[in-house]
Amino acid sequence: MKKIDHVGVAVPSLAEAKPFYAEGLGLKLLAEEEVAEQRVRVAMFQCGESRIELLEPTSPESPIAKFLEKKGSGIHHIAVEVKDVEAELNALQAQGVKLIDTVARIGAGGHKIAFVHPKSTSGVLLELTQK
Ligand code: ZN
Repeated sequence: MKKIDHVGVAVPSLAEAKPFYAEGLGLKLLAEEEVAEQRVRVAMFQCGESRIELLEPTSPESPIAKFLEKKGSGIHHIAVEVKDVEAELNALQAQGVKLIDTVARIGAGGHKIAFVHPKSTSGVLLELTQK
């Protein structure tokens, strides 16, 4: 069964954003790491079965920097856990769904991920993630 793995939130500064989630909301910080390929620094908080992923750009070329410029801080994507990212991508492609990634790549935590285009999801950037 599919479930929400995490919600990604774009922030200009992890240092400024983390205290609310850690001390304010009392969530456990699971990991903080840089994902060089996506030019972001990520802080992952446990929230029940799901997680909240704060994303800080590490370069002005980062997709997160561009998002912040356009929209400011806020929800950037929703990640759905699937059994097999490649199989899911093939099935979606066969249905004519617009994909950002036609092949899986490696995201935070070393997981296989791929993004589905908001044009096909009613405006939500959707991440497929496989553990
Ligand atoms: Zn994510």
